[in-house]
Amino acid sequence: MADLKRLSESRDLTRIERIGAHSHIRGLGLDSSLEARDASEGMVGQLPARRAAGLILQLIRQGKIAGRAVLLAGQPGTGKTALAMGIAKSLGAETPFASVAASELFSLDLSKTEALTQAFRRSIGVRIKEEAEIIEGEVVEISIDRPLSAGSAAPSGATAPGKTGRLTLKTTDMETVYELGGKMIEALGKEKVQSGDVIALDKASGKVTKLGRSIGRSRDYDAVGPHTKFVKCPDGELQKRKEVVHCVTLHEIDVINSRTQGFLALFTGDTGEIRAEVREQIDTKVAEWREEGKAEIVPGVLFIDEVHMLDIECFSFLNRALENDMSPILVIATNRGITSIRGTNYRSPHGIPPDFLDRLLIITTQPYTEDEICKILDIRCNEEDVEMSADAKVLLTKIGVETSLRYAIHLITSAALACQKRKGKVVEMEDISRVYQLFLDVKRSTQYLMEYQSQYMF
Ligand code: ATP
Repeated sequence: MADLKRLSESRDLTRIERIGAHSHIRGLGLDSSLEARDASEGMVGQLPARRAAGLILQLIRQGKIAGRAVLLAGQPGTGKTALAMGIAKSLGAETPFASVAASELFSLDLSKTEALTQAFRRSIGVRIKEEAEIIEGEVVEISIDRPLSAGSAAPSGATAPGKTGRLTLKTTDMETVYELGGKMIEALGKEKVQSGDVIALDKASGKVTKLGRSIGRSRDYDAVGPHTKFVKCPDGELQKRKEVVHCVTLHEIDVINSRTQGFLALFTGDTGEIRAEVREQIDTKVAEWREEGKAEIVPGVLFIDEVHMLDIECFSFLNRALENDMSPILVIATNRGITSIRGTNYRSPHGIPPDFLDRLLIITTQPYTEDEICKILDIRCNEEDVEMSADAKVLLTKIGVETSLRYAIHLITSAALACQKRKGKVVEMEDISRVYQLFLDVKRSTQYLMEYQSQYMF
């Protein structure tokens, strides 16, 4: 449990999001009747696909998606990954979202089924509930000028340097106060504490909170948070207990328990193969926690891109995995039409075996109009904090229509750098033209190759 707590806390710290390709997507942009708004939550256009994704959301929320998966099929850059992200975001911040490209599953380090198992377990969350004890006290006396004496509630060694004082606390448990009083002074160092203040210390996290003031007999504090519960202590006094919730994924629990340096392995990503026995033990433990009401399973979203790169064994693994009651929502995507199933001589729609296709809810995505491309580029400029003149936006949209949306999005960052280099503040047409000449799009790159193919090696 201690490791899991450490993990979920460190995750909170590292959740400073980079500006990634999809960081502007905050949901599916649907209204309360699940109709897609034109542009909302970072999503633009693609209305029928977003409506369909909204119904998928409803199925997920009603627990009716089990045993099925969603296929997003459409041309490159038509927002398949963005849609998958939108589904995950709409399910709430705690919903795990794992994304892999099918080709990543084939490596020398891990067998493909191990890689798939890890991907599945990365998208299954476990919400673990723990009751942390809160010690609550009322400051009844403060004297700043005198050094702390041994007889005071706070041991003198615990005071912050240069600070002397006496803090006397009235709580339900005087012994704990004697032990923790010093910590309270330290933690409240910067805050002004006065006689009559009611303060609380969370024993588990060491956090001190100023709850409010005690006014006569009534206490006007309410700042402890939504999970605060009051429980009766044996001596009849009120004591506060706070429900602390940690969210981790099954894969993280696997890794922590699979090797001695488990916790660090999560950051290096060097998790290696995890033994089946370790996973069985963890599943048993999690099942116990669920029965005791200490944990809940949060099925997340597993997104597998380029699904045509999976072979027949991977598809049978997916077929089986979907039957599991802890299965995440599987969303797969492809930009291929009729193609061969990897590892066989058979051709099928999207390179997916017919029995697996039969399980899928298929959503197609359509190419964007000029206006939609313009709106998406505008959103990306905002996301990347890039100020762009109206002319430059028109030019960039034109480039997006002629080449691809993704290429145009890439030019935003490089044009901003070009602008910075000439000490400009607003990206102008000249910056866009400059980077358009520096970086080739697929069409021009192919043309170039065809022209100079004789100079390349075969
Ligand atoms: P591929 O088939 O090449 O994997 P894709 O269909 O998954 O492509 P995305 O990667 O989702 O396409 O889209 C390309 C870029 O455009 C991403 O930055 C994505 O966030 C953005 N984008 C795509 N569609 C939308 C949309 N409807 N609204 C807002 N942004 C979008």
